[in-house]
Amino acid sequence: MPKQYYITTPIYYVNDVPHIGHAYTTIAADVLARWKRLQGHEVFFLTGTDEHGAKIAQAAEAKGVSPQAYADEIVEAFKRLWQSLHITHNGFIRTTEDRHIQTVQAFFSKLRENRDIYKGMYEDWYCTPCETFWSESELKGKTCPVCSREVERLQEESYFFKLDKYKDRLLSFYKNNPDFLAPRFRSSEIINFVKELKNLSVSRTKVKWGVPVPDDEKHTVYVWFDALINYISGIGYGQSPAADFKDIWPADVHFVGKEIFRFHAVIWPAMLMSLGIDVPKKVFAHGWWTVEGDKMSKSKGNMVDPHKIIADFGGEGLGTDVLRYFVLREVPFGNDGDFSQKALLGRYNAELANALGNLLNRTLNLIEKNDKGQILGKKTSLPVNRLEKFKAAMDNLAFHEALEEVALIVREGNAKIDSEAPWKTVKTDPAKASQTLHDVLISLKQAAILLHPFMPTITQEMWKQMGEQEDLAQTGKRFLKTGDISFVPEQTVKKGNPLFPRK
Ligand SMILES: [Zn+2]
Repeated sequence: MPKQYYITTPIYYVNDVPHIGHAYTTIAADVLARWKRLQGHEVFFLTGTDEHGAKIAQAAEAKGVSPQAYADEIVEAFKRLWQSLHITHNGFIRTTEDRHIQTVQAFFSKLRENRDIYKGMYEDWYCTPCETFWSESELKGKTCPVCSREVERLQEESYFFKLDKYKDRLLSFYKNNPDFLAPRFRSSEIINFVKELKNLSVSRTKVKWGVPVPDDEKHTVYVWFDALINYISGIGYGQSPAADFKDIWPADVHFVGKEIFRFHAVIWPAMLMSLGIDVPKKVFAHGWWTVEGDKMSKSKGNMVDPHKIIADFGGEGLGTDVLRYFVLREVPFGNDGDFSQKALLGRYNAELANALGNLLNRTLNLIEKNDKGQILGKKTSLPVNRLEKFKAAMDNLAFHEALEEVALIVREGNAKIDSEAPWKTVKTDPAKASQTLHDVLISLKQAAILLHPFMPTITQEMWKQMGEQEDLAQTGKRFLKTGDISFVPEQTVKKGNPLFPRK
């Protein structure tokens, strides 16, 4: 059996309900998962939640509930959102599950047996909200470089992971695997960090809400160390009976936000190297969203709620698809971007309502008027150029470029109808008019297939209106394999309501 294509999101910290940032990473992972399936791969797509640490214990205490009860509630909010966003993960891992705890403990014990974990004393600046120790040089003034909150001096007995030992192996790994750190412009940050690498404290005695260190239960495993292991606990590593680990690992892509790139690009591969487990093929760190030009924060009350955007565009279905499309179209994946109502409406009206929706509508209208709804015209071959560019962009996780290729297909379709005017030529050369409409509809069919991973619901609607009988994914798979996308004889279109009503 060929190895499954393995895609992960980070497991999300359950300190608060999900916002657009969580949705963004998960949508990107889902689009890639759907695209890979369309290309004929068996895909394993894992997401989940990170539920240990002092911050969760504190939040639970403030609400007067147990940490587990608190986590259970927030986990439901994540699951609801993934449902509303039509996310097709096939694994969901929680760090409070027995199977995860079993893997973490097995992992920790093996590292200790290998003498890559030892006991010592740790002291440094600690940010409780981020669960992270910072060295003096990393602090921003006297505050945490990530969240800008106060840090405190903390000293405790701790187990250490010999991260320093992996410095040279990591550096040569990056060199020999230039696609591992992505996007490439973020790689120098990692390489510089590795050059200064120190051993990592991987247990806490002050934090009770965590995975107990095997045979030394006054320690719990450092929440980050615990969390990273989800990528293999979620597929059965170290569990009995072992699940599908060998058919799935290594991960093809770990999607992460740029703030957690280091953990994934440095600590995680070193942990795996220590145990002789293959290192993932790629870690991709995307950028952050601002909102209307402002930093998004709980205190400002400007967190974008994905459910609200979905509702604004008519609920699940269209609303889901518009949000999925917008976040990957608006900003080059990897860069920072701004979420604004103006940009959202602008994209929607220009690219979906006026371009794509309009092209479908006018083409179907003319086919009904000129040819009684029948798709006439001869089979033609598509220009392969756009498809090849689309595929290359998807391979590079340049989602905005892939969508640009589809936008060009649509633009060319509208231009063709404008210039060939089939509503006129039908009077003098009906065969030519039919051919124009056939060719434009073929382009629309191609657009529907390529857009399907991004807009899974609306593309199905397009499909129906074009009178397709076969399942979109079925045709899509064949098209990507053979290039065949022709219509069946006697196929008639079934125009319905406009799919993208203007806003
Ligand atoms: Zn912090």
